Amino acid sequence: MEGSSDVKKKLLDYEWLLNRLYEKVPPRSGSTEYKIPEPQVIRIGSQTIIRNFREIAEKLKRDPQLVARYLQKELATAGSYDPNSGQLVLNVKVSRRVISQFLNIFFKNYVRCPTCGSIDTRLEKRGKMWVLVCEACGAEQPVKPF
Ligand SMILES: [Zn+2]
Repeated sequence: MEGSSDVKKKLLDYEWLLNRLYEKVPPRSGSTEYKIPEPQVIRIGSQTIIRNFREIAEKLKRDPQLVARYLQKELATAGSYDPNSGQLVLNVKVSRRVISQFLNIFFKNYVRCPTCGSIDTRLEKRGKMWVLVCEACGAEQPVKPF
């Protein structure tokens, strides 16, 4: 009995150490650990509502209308973004996981600098071309328009 409580204590210490370790690591903006908020999804009938869509777009540093257009294209559906509520309504039934996946792809392709990993970037439209311009390292990456 004593033995098992020792093990438990050690495990707790280990957890405590891990927690401390994570606390000490500063969040690196631009790394793959950059946290996009979990989409808050409600499904009503054949529609899917992302309640915190504006917050997500702000984190992605992109116009909500642009992110909305991306999701609509990828999901091959129509939708409407309401600037007052900050919600996006999609005319399709889709799970939170799938939305998260597409948001991550969006982040990788249209937000994060592929050269230095910074998220201090902007999307420039030059005629038919779209270019991801990095404010941190100056790299320019042509991206697929949508
Ligand atoms: Zn860069």
